[in-house]
Amino acid sequence: MCGIAGIHSNKPVAAELYDSLIHLQHRGQDAAGIITYKNRMHKSKGSGLVRDIFTDKKIARLKGNVGIAHNRYPTHGGFGHGEIQPFWTSVPYGIALAHNGNLTNYSELAKTITSNESRYLNTDSDSEVLLHLFADLLHNKNQPDNDNEFFKNLCYAIEKVFEHVQGAYSVVALIIGKGLVAFRDPNGIRPLVKGVRTNKDGGKDHIIASENTMFYPLGFEPERSILPGEIVYINHKGKEFNRRILKQSFNPCIFEYVYFARPDATLNDVSVYRSRLRMGQNLAEKWKQRFPDNIPDIIIPAPSTANTSALSMANTLGVRYSEGLYKNPFIGRTFIMPGQRARKKSVRYKLTPQRTEIEGKTVMIVDDSIVRGNTSREIVRMLKDFGATKVYFAVACPPVISPCFYGVDMPTRKELIANNKTISQIKNFLAVDELIYQDIDSLSEAVMRKGDHHIDKPCMACFDKKYITSEMSIEKINELEQLRIKDRNGK
Ligand code: SF4
Repeated sequence: MCGIAGIHSNKPVAAELYDSLIHLQHRGQDAAGIITYKNRMHKSKGSGLVRDIFTDKKIARLKGNVGIAHNRYPTHGGFGHGEIQPFWTSVPYGIALAHNGNLTNYSELAKTITSNESRYLNTDSDSEVLLHLFADLLHNKNQPDNDNEFFKNLCYAIEKVFEHVQGAYSVVALIIGKGLVAFRDPNGIRPLVKGVRTNKDGGKDHIIASENTMFYPLGFEPERSILPGEIVYINHKGKEFNRRILKQSFNPCIFEYVYFARPDATLNDVSVYRSRLRMGQNLAEKWKQRFPDNIPDIIIPAPSTANTSALSMANTLGVRYSEGLYKNPFIGRTFIMPGQRARKKSVRYKLTPQRTEIEGKTVMIVDDSIVRGNTSREIVRMLKDFGATKVYFAVACPPVISPCFYGVDMPTRKELIANNKTISQIKNFLAVDELIYQDIDSLSEAVMRKGDHHIDKPCMACFDKKYITSEMSIEKINELEQLRIKDRNGK
């Protein structure tokens, strides 16, 4: 998972791109980069948190009124400095690109690019392949000065990208002398939203980003989601061109609502916060049906993504909501940290139970998801250490049984606890008195119930193994799992 942003404005954009990265930091904490354009490309990249990478001096050197930015959370390629986005090429002319997602036919595309097009790849990143493919397809057309003609060429190139590229990709790109370009894969798996702002010259500034979390602080009005299969082009005068090139089923990632997106974001015209409230309501109804006599004394969220679902679950059950686990905000989210050792070490380090909220009580823990199960087991142990008489565990999503190949770094099938154990075995592993998961239909209902959205059916492949794109055979799944293991081990 990554965060991307592109801004076209009537004033320098570097500081606002920096702010955008800060507001997308939850989508990737591994590295970040910004590229702007004025006379030439200006670039700054680094590893770590956004606030530690960019100094005032670095931001001041990023000149220009148009630029793109990227927060990195590796799902393909290694962890090296060379893999940090945005990527750029000077052939046929300067194009810089930032990508959120994962290309499932990376190996085939990389072969084509290096053999047929004689391009050299510096990294193992699928985003670099996407950049070269896009650049080549654009290169095959004459480059007119006229913006309408250029937009036609762009549409041609993106149509061909849609033909060749499989998987998930939301993209922002900067083209020298032309402006800002954005497009979203034909199923719209990863999010992409657009905002506008009237500038002091009376013109329009545009922002396109993974989430709208930075729109309000930067003075942008949310406009709409970029549709699946759509391209948006903002020319150097700020004029917008857009076209939905391919109309397929709209299948955005449901895990964005469960875990990744910030609660204040609205993705695909559905409020993340509201969807999480509905997850809690649906889970409470299921609990009442299954365990009418087991109403807990207190409901505590596993902070902090689960806070919203836990709150509505507590309201629906008529039970007190308590923040009985204090989360140290200065430690990264465990799911997002590379490596199991770091994850195990960090649970007790970052969560502190509050004895007054726990001792002598029947406690229900609500978590957004259970992936490997180690964090959940550790939480249960802590609650028992602090005197809980009984512990119930409620999960806002269904069992995660299959990895994501569309841009979320999930463990392999071997490591996913729900792929290897029954619910009753997981209950024993966690050592809880009762365990409940959200049903698949209830999760889908929680996201789809409200909002003026166009979602046909969200992607839920990590819960139901029904991958959205047609190439995902069992052989392909095996191949992609091996590739991911190789990337993780740095081989
Ligand atoms: Fe999202 Fe899961 Fe689909 Fe991946 S497989 S895109 S995490 S719903």
